[in-house]
Amino acid sequence: MAPMPRLTRYDGYAVAALAVAALTALLAPILDERHIVDVSLLYLLVTLVVAARWGYGVGIFTAIAADLCVNFFYIPPLHRFTVQEPVNLAGLVLFLCVALFGAYMLSRLREQAANARAREAETAFLLGATREIVRAETPRQALDRLCEVLARAANARGCAILSGPSLTIAGATIDEPSSAPATRDDIAVAKEVFRTDRPARITAAPGRKPARTVTFVPLHSTGVPALLRLVGDIPNKKLESAVVQALVNEASAALERARLSREAERANALERADEFKNVLLSSVSHDLRSPLTAIKAAVSSLRDESVDWSADDRRSFLETIESQSDRLTRTVSNLLEMSRLEGGTVRPSLEAIEVSLLFEDISLAVAPTLGARKFVVSGPPGVWVRADYGLLTQAITNLIENAVKYSVPAGPICLDAHGAPGRVLISVSDSGPGIPPEDLPHLFEKFYRGKHVGTVIGTGLGLALVRAMVELCGGSVSVDSAPAGTRFTLSLPSTVAPQ
Ligand code: ADP
Repeated sequence: MAPMPRLTRYDGYAVAALAVAALTALLAPILDERHIVDVSLLYLLVTLVVAARWGYGVGIFTAIAADLCVNFFYIPPLHRFTVQEPVNLAGLVLFLCVALFGAYMLSRLREQAANARAREAETAFLLGATREIVRAETPRQALDRLCEVLARAANARGCAILSGPSLTIAGATIDEPSSAPATRDDIAVAKEVFRTDRPARITAAPGRKPARTVTFVPLHSTGVPALLRLVGDIPNKKLESAVVQALVNEASAALERARLSREAERANALERADEFKNVLLSSVSHDLRSPLTAIKAAVSSLRDESVDWSADDRRSFLETIESQSDRLTRTVSNLLEMSRLEGGTVRPSLEAIEVSLLFEDISLAVAPTLGARKFVVSGPPGVWVRADYGLLTQAITNLIENAVKYSVPAGPICLDAHGAPGRVLISVSDSGPGIPPEDLPHLFEKFYRGKHVGTVIGTGLGLALVRAMVELCGGSVSVDSAPAGTRFTLSLPSTVAPQ
């Protein structure tokens, strides 16, 4: 069905005139002064209907036209605008008053209904907008969404929120003019907008056809100067509409929230860095100092010519120097690796790795640390994992080294792999004393060392590194520890053999 054409107020005047004319043409030939009450009621009905539909102006017009028609066609002397009987004159005045009053009341009702509908539509729009904005995951995303909603509400082609003295983009719709950085013209207009605290318009890129008009609106109550850049010549009436005003206020508040959340994040990062520094100093100073002390003592003893050291003593000093240097190297390289991973400079190069071949390489690498232990490897052929080769090798090696450190000297260590839907699970297990339940929640924290490590040397960084490396490969690590024996499991995305 074709949509009903929208009738304007001018159409209303025409319809009212036609209705009064039609009613007169219909009734005047058959009714006269004796039916004046019925006739007046019919004209009153027409007046009220048009007033309800087109407002008070059309209502007044219809009431006067109807009054004149009643006078002209029904009240003697007929076909003249004069009245013989005073009672008829009173009737005509009364008719006019009732018609005008009725028209006024109905047009008010109509206005109120229209206002209520508009407010309902505004509320629904704002509610939808708020829902969209609240769903945003980051402050930037929230500001982008707010720009989309603002552009829709102001009938703009795009919108951006610019903040700070150099007008950096805090949020924008994705179109090219909105997301483009502020131009020199923008900065000049912004200064004017901040000074006058009123919206302003410029024609950007005047050479272009069609010329593009941009409207700037100041934002208040933010810690830094900020404004909206709306692409389009938005009339003041639109800018002052309740919805746009509500969204402009929301933009100011959202910008302020984004600033506060940035500040909180920065404060948090500083606090974390401070905490990291303190923990680093207290945990590592011992790990760095004690091997250095041992090396220094061994070297000083060897250099002491007043003592005649036996060959065994000398070998023992040299062994100390070697093992303590290894320990120092391990600590320093763990620290460097941790700061590299934490600094976000490591870009994993993910590739398809065949697990059985990876296990062969790892077995060769860890063989010297295993001594006489039984090392059981079961990597079924044809299982492929998607990971960074270097990171994954290092993570598994760390787990094997831990198994060596924390399990009984002759206890076997197993390295195995099996597929799960979409994943490959790689486990390193030992038959050591296991991990006390109170240690389990903290194992992967930086610098955390078990409560019962005794004399076993370590920095508490090994498992934190394992977790960071595995997560960079898109995987996760978990631990199971029965009263005896510990099993660490890496879960990584599986893949197919490259063609
Ligand atoms: P470190 O070995 O330097 O102490 P890690 O981060 O590698 O640091 O390990 C953290 C803690 O986890 C260790 O101190 C230890 O208590 C516990 N742990 C790790 N691996 C094992 C294991 N295979 N068996 C028992 N405990 C373990």
